[in-house]
Amino acid sequence: MRLPKFEYFEPQDLNEAVSILKNEPLAKILAGGTDLLINMKHRVETPTTLVNIKGIEDLDYIRQDNGDLRLGGLTTLKRIYQTALILEKLPGLAEAAAAVGSYHHQTMGTLAGNVCQQNRCKFFNQSRWWRSSRPTCFKAGGEICHVVNKKEICYSSYCGDVAPALLVLNARIAIAGPKGAREVLLEDFYSGDGKVPLNLSAAEIVTEIIIPREAMDGIGSYTKFANRESIDFPIVGTAYWASRENKQYRVAFTAVDRRPVRGHQVEAVLNGQDISGEILETACDLAAKEAKPVKTSVYSPSYKRKMMGLLLKTAVSRAERRSA
Ligand SMILES: Cc1cc2nc3c(=O)[nH]c(=O)nc-3n(C[C@H](O)[C@H](O)[C@H](O)COP(=O)(O)OP(=O)(O)OC[C@H]3O[C@@H](n4cnc5c(N)ncnc54)[C@H](O)[C@@H]3O)c2cc1C
Ligand code: SF4
Repeated sequence: MRLPKFEYFEPQDLNEAVSILKNEPLAKILAGGTDLLINMKHRVETPTTLVNIKGIEDLDYIRQDNGDLRLGGLTTLKRIYQTALILEKLPGLAEAAAAVGSYHHQTMGTLAGNVCQQNRCKFFNQSRWWRSSRPTCFKAGGEICHVVNKKEICYSSYCGDVAPALLVLNARIAIAGPKGAREVLLEDFYSGDGKVPLNLSAAEIVTEIIIPREAMDGIGSYTKFANRESIDFPIVGTAYWASRENKQYRVAFTAVDRRPVRGHQVEAVLNGQDISGEILETACDLAAKEAKPVKTSVYSPSYKRKMMGLLLKTAVSRAERRSA
């Protein structure tokens, strides 16, 4: 499959990149390209201009600042899971980065690109030829949804592996744009609209992910169930984090809703408790209620709900083994 024609820019600094994006409303940011270029080949994303930000210096770093951990947007996934500090203090994040696609995706793919990847749906992530057998759906510019009838909403799922691992760390995201810099909680970065999944304007660039110091006083894990063990997006992914200081817990899921979701109901059951078999059973039953999966993949929503509970159990026992 060939790429369509596009204009191409290689800005050398953030200001230049923002100003190109501002002047080219149909432009898209290109980082590792492992998500965007496939979508362009499938003609489900059709930017007229690509702004390759890989040449911008100082967006590829992992450093500590007053105890917080700061990761530049261009940091590759491979670098994340090969960094000793992350392996030791944030093993759930390392596991999530190592779970993405194949070694090639981890080498090319960036942290910001992973967090900002497009939502997925079995009717959207297909070649133009495959899609031509039915009317174009909302997300690809048409007027119908093949998953949920009679609703003018796109239900495509967010399927990134790294976002749930960051959500349980209470990570923040730093953004540069025409109006200057801003910072938001990662949880507020996702819109919940499958058609436009990010609360990010067209000329804004994700520059950094910030992990607060307190997240490093916990123990975490990320568990993924995928169709194939080799190279595949999650059917369900579950991230878990437990404080070493007090009985506080955080849980997040991916691939089960239009955005990565925090398991607030599960957390409410776990918080303040020693995790016993009974409490965990209750939490795992509740996990199924944290999201609203629809049939955007070959797996049924009820199967996904069951997997959310099962993966939570695995994630908890993996983290407990680590803390022993
Ligand atoms: C076969 C295959 C398997 C895959 N498996 C997985 C998987 O298991 N898990 C998973 O999570 N992903 C998977 N992916 C998707 C992808 O490889 C990863 O998400 C990767 O981390 C994307 O990073 P990138 O730098 O290549 O992003 P790009 O493709 O360059 O960009 C992705 C999106 O983010 C935007 N973007 C990039 N950088 C920024 C920035 N700094 N600020 C704002 N927007 C930005 C781009 O405009 C684009 O819309 C897979 C892809 C393929 C093709
Ligand atoms: S959920 Fe509906 S509108 Fe969204 S990508 Fe799938 S078929 Fe298209």
